[in-house]
Amino acid sequence: MKKVFKIILSLIIIFFGAIYILVNTVLKENYNISDIKNNLTKETINKKSQELLLVNDQNGLGKDYIPEGLTIPNIKFSSNSANEEKHVAGIMAKPLEKLVKAAKDEGVTLLGNSAYRSYKSQEKVYNNRVKSQGRKLADSYVAKPGFSEHQTGLCIDITNKDKYFVEGTKEADWLAKNCYKFGFIIRYPKGKKTSTGIDYEPWHIRYVGKEAAKYIYDNKITLEDYLNK
Ligand SMILES: [Zn+2]
Repeated sequence: MKKVFKIILSLIIIFFGAIYILVNTVLKENYNISDIKNNLTKETINKKSQELLLVNDQNGLGKDYIPEGLTIPNIKFSSNSANEEKHVAGIMAKPLEKLVKAAKDEGVTLLGNSAYRSYKSQEKVYNNRVKSQGRKLADSYVAKPGFSEHQTGLCIDITNKDKYFVEGTKEADWLAKNCYKFGFIIRYPKGKKTSTGIDYEPWHIRYVGKEAAKYIYDNKITLEDYLNK
């Protein structure tokens, strides 16, 4: 009888021990999961604020602003692209590669022309224009340093083999119709100068993430409209 009692007691101890270990493990896992979730949320917020960064003639960037994770995407560039302007912000590299590949799969060849431009480069371009054409004309054609969206590394001017990227060409029409699927918008659409401050540019696409891009495309609005500024 004593032996049976001992066995039962041992079994009870083992049973509760097992439950104790199990509960502890589950609690620990839950704790880790909620920790991971918190981190993801922070990352998502950081990504969103990058994706929706607004630069226009009212909103500029500092001299020292350099996009995160600048990298050269794996796409073909036009022969006259300088090394600096082949770079894009890290978050935009993969979506851009996917966009260019999807176009190629449909028989449309898109070439990168000009993406990132540093504050210094923009300053050079701007000052040269001022020298050659005067400040007034320069201001109407070239963004002042800090006020070009190209400093964000989130946009790129696309071209084609003929370096003639205008509305009605196969390439420009494909881009206008499909870029939102990859998180891009035509940043300066036709007839929206009052909103963007810039004339129609079919070649200039801006990465804003898929959600914003689809909304902007579906509602035929601009990034300024979207951000309500
Ligand atoms: Zn551009």
